[in-house]
Amino acid sequence: MVFLPYYIMAFNFKSRCVVCKNNYIIVTAGQKYAVCYDCQKKELEQKINDPSMKKLFNIPEDYYKENSFLRNIKINYLRYGKLSDKQIEAFKKTVNKIKSDK
Ligand SMILES: [Zn+2]
Repeated sequence: MVFLPYYIMAFNFKSRCVVCKNNYIIVTAGQKYAVCYDCQKKELEQKINDPSMKKLFNIPEDYYKENSFLRNIKINYLRYGKLSDKQIEAFKKTVNKIKSDK
């Protein structure tokens, strides 16, 4: 029997998409619910007018496919038209982490 380190169990777990109830997504702690890339795709493709935000969200599509946190931040922006500095920081950090992991 393999024991996973506690932090992996605590911070990452698989959850079924709350919309299609079909695809599984990796969820991190603090995330209330998870929606898969397929279900969020339409929303993610909405046009962004703010040039600096456009630049921020201009990352490889694969990143959005792999990471539900990045999707949620972008959708937050598309819904409410703004992000807090903290959210922007977290977004950049996550992108850099994916870059360095590859
Ligand atoms: Zn789904």
